[in-house]
Amino acid sequence: MDIEDNISNILSTIPQDVTLIAVSKTKPIEDLKRAYAVGIRDFGENKVQELVEKCDSLDKDIRWHFIGNLQTNKVKYLVDRAYLIHSLDSIKLLNEIEKVYGKKNKVAEVLIEVNIGRELSKGGVLEENLNELLENVELCKFVKVRGLMAIIPKGDDKSCRLYFREVKKIWNTLKNKEIKNVKMEILSMGMTHDYKLAIEEGSNMVRIGEGIFGARNYNK
Ligand SMILES: *Cc1c(COP(=O)(O)O)cnc(C)c1O
Repeated sequence: MDIEDNISNILSTIPQDVTLIAVSKTKPIEDLKRAYAVGIRDFGENKVQELVEKCDSLDKDIRWHFIGNLQTNKVKYLVDRAYLIHSLDSIKLLNEIEKVYGKKNKVAEVLIEVNIGRELSKGGVLEENLNELLENVELCKFVKVRGLMAIIPKGDDKSCRLYFREVKKIWNTLKNKEIKNVKMEILSMGMTHDYKLAIEEGSNMVRIGEGIFGARNYNK
C-alpha cells in the first residue's frame, strides 16, 4: 500500500466533519508532498525543529499542528508557523505562549492535552488540575483554547473506548460552561490503531502517522 492509497482509504472511512491530520514526523519532505498532492493540508509534527524545517520548505496553505511536548524556550519558533498547538499542559507553558505571542501581537490557538491515563511518561494535565489551568487561560489576551487533545494508554478496544469516553465527558462538561478564551470545538483523539473507535466516541480530529506513511524508523 502506498501513501496515496492509505489516504484515500482512511478518508473513505471517516465522516466529512472529522479532520484528518497526517502525522509526518521522521518522514522525508517527498512523502509530505505526495500527501499534499492528494489533498492533505493538515500535517502533524512533534519536534519544533522538524516542523520549522518542513514548514519553511513547503506550501504556505498547509496547516501545521504541533502535537509533541513543547519546551518553553521553543515557543517562539511556532509563532507564524503553527496553526494549532495540541499540547498545552501547564500554567508555565501557558504563560510563555501568552508572552511570546503577545510580543508579536498574534493569537495562539491551542488545545489542552489531558493525561487521561495518568501515565508519568506522558505529557498532559491531570483532570484535577484542569480548572486551575483554565482560570489562568481566562487571564490571557493572546491564547485561545479550542478544545482538548488526548493520547490514551495502550490497551484493547474496550479500554480504548473507556478512555475516549472519559475525555469526551470532560470536553462536554467544559463545552457547557462559559469560560473566557475557551471554546470547546475540537476533540483531538485517535491514531492509526484506534482512530475508528475514537470517532465513534466523539473525536472530530484524528492524528494518523503510520497508517498513512508506514512504519517510522528512529535510528536513521
Ligand atoms: C506519533 C503521534 C501520532 C501518530 O501515531 P501513529 O500511531 O503513527 O498513527 C499521533 N499523535 C501524537 C501526539 C503522536 O506523537
